[in-house]
Amino acid sequence: MAYTVPKLKDFSPDALDKAVAKLLSALEKESSSVKNEADKKSFRDRWLARKDGVLTQINDLWLKSAPKDAKREVGQRVNKLKGEVETKVDAAVKRSAAEKTESAIDISLPGIHRAIGAEHPIIRTQNEIVAVFKNLGYSVAEGPVIETDYYNFEALNFPPNHPARDTQDTLFLANQESKPRREQLLLRTHTSPVQIRTMEKLTPPLRLVIPGKVHRNDPPDASHSPMFHQVEGLAVDTNITFGDLKGTLDHAMKSLFGSDVKTSFRPSFFPFTEPSAEMFVSCFICGGSGKRGNDNAPCRPCKQSGWIEILGCGMVDPNVFEFVKHNGYDPEKISGFAFGMGVDRIAMLKYGLDDLQLFFQGDVRFLEQFA
Ligand SMILES: [Zn+2]
Repeated sequence: MAYTVPKLKDFSPDALDKAVAKLLSALEKESSSVKNEADKKSFRDRWLARKDGVLTQINDLWLKSAPKDAKREVGQRVNKLKGEVETKVDAAVKRSAAEKTESAIDISLPGIHRAIGAEHPIIRTQNEIVAVFKNLGYSVAEGPVIETDYYNFEALNFPPNHPARDTQDTLFLANQESKPRREQLLLRTHTSPVQIRTMEKLTPPLRLVIPGKVHRNDPPDASHSPMFHQVEGLAVDTNITFGDLKGTLDHAMKSLFGSDVKTSFRPSFFPFTEPSAEMFVSCFICGGSGKRGNDNAPCRPCKQSGWIEILGCGMVDPNVFEFVKHNGYDPEKISGFAFGMGVDRIAMLKYGLDDLQLFFQGDVRFLEQFA
């Protein structure tokens, strides 16, 4: 039941204190039930309204009607009460305003933005290359970075004394001497072991694109790093020809560097392909002229030749198929092509960098330019 200000008959200090206590407890109770704008207004009006607010009633019913000798006692208490009531009303008003701010969520405001970083330019380039081949129907395959000598060299037709097996180029794991050669562990020097690993699992036909990290014992400089990235490809089927290789790679280069680029193949040697070629693309920086800008400055990325060497490729050597012949890869019946490119070099060309190390130094000022 709502509190009503009683008329006082007893003006003794004791009776006054009791009346004040009752009023304060009513004030407390009512202030705690203030929940919204309308409550706030009626709470304030009920206690502070000039015409018939509780304070005005106290003034009339207690102070004005008090006998002369009690006026002083009543007056002191009424003044104190005024202060209390005003404080309580203010507090209730403030509290409900604060609650309003907390509970009101404006869903049209932007959310809290958390910095999640961005793709590293090397990974972005790698994904772009992979996407080109995925669109041609290639599957993505991956394999271990720590490999055996067998998968990294032997099954890829590297003869035992091939220079690439030299510790000058290959990082072998320590304390492997007691193991047979083919079981010795090393950091893979190319992504090619994944070709063998996948052909052991899947029967032909096969179209694979293989991205990943590789390692070689190269001291870091502007164009070398002991860790770098390759994307490798393999297509195996009946009647795959060098024409398929050229057509596929020409399409891929146009997708990556623009439809204007031309491709050119020059004979080369790799142990696991025969014949082998190095593929060049016409320089997409100078347009193949070897010169840049109005002052005909020499184009550095193509060394003024108009051509940039971009990848190695070839027809899979029948000797490689011999290692997986048991799984349907009979070199008498099937053929295939393979190619491999350095992602880091392509990223450098793409972003116009002349120092490979920038990619791996972890300098946020450099990396955030690609975000
Ligand atoms: Zn050029």
